[in-house]
Amino acid sequence: MNIILMGPPGAGKGTQAELIKAKYPIPHISTGDMFREAVSNGTQMGKEAQKYMDAGKLVPDQVTIGIVEERLAQSDCAKGFLLDGFPRTTVQAEALDQTLKKLNKKVEVALNIAAPDEILIERLSGRVSCKDCKKVYNLSYSPPAQAGVCDICGGEIIQRSDDRGETVAKRLEVYNEQTAPLLKYYDECQLLHNLDGNRDSREVFQEVVRILESL
Ligand code: ADP
Ligand code: ZN
Repeated sequence: MNIILMGPPGAGKGTQAELIKAKYPIPHISTGDMFREAVSNGTQMGKEAQKYMDAGKLVPDQVTIGIVEERLAQSDCAKGFLLDGFPRTTVQAEALDQTLKKLNKKVEVALNIAAPDEILIERLSGRVSCKDCKKVYNLSYSPPAQAGVCDICGGEIIQRSDDRGETVAKRLEVYNEQTAPLLKYYDECQLLHNLDGNRDSREVFQEVVRILESL
């Protein structure tokens, strides 16, 4: 199963990715997670990426395409993959098609999760997570039982630096300008499925499963 997961920031891609990964044994490739890991490891690439991330902008295509190409060539992607947060530009989508062609593969389905802007803003600005086990909470509707402490592992609760005020607005603007046009790209190849992300994540997942089982 070769899946791409699309949608604006806050639509629930990360949550669906966790659920998909638990049901189908395919690697979850999140460019956002890869960049955050590079930032926390202090690598050269991480330092470069951080400037863009903190400004709510996209990391340049060559950098992003490079890391995804390398990842997709690894042997655990033989049975499929779940791409989350990539492609985000038309250049990236075209590069992905070429890379997959060389590997004798193709995208089989593009799942697009959507939600109204005001919901996205509310979700992103309340989003926090555990520094250690990465469990995601929302201060408005699913806060940890004890403020600042993870229910599961007792780890420290932190906020992503790009989930603050104006960076959130910038990320939505960048999505509308650079990523939303990609929906047409996947619609034209008849790979696109639109899902309403403004409901319980379990309901969204039931629909995801129906789509994946019908492939
Ligand atoms: P979200 O979907 O919540 O905005 P991600 O965790 O997917 O966040 O990405 C966080 C940041 O990492 C983005 O705002 C961007 O700076 C960078 N990034 C992630 N994926 C890409 C990509 N495909 N192309 C360029 N930059 C990316
Ligand atoms: Zn934890």
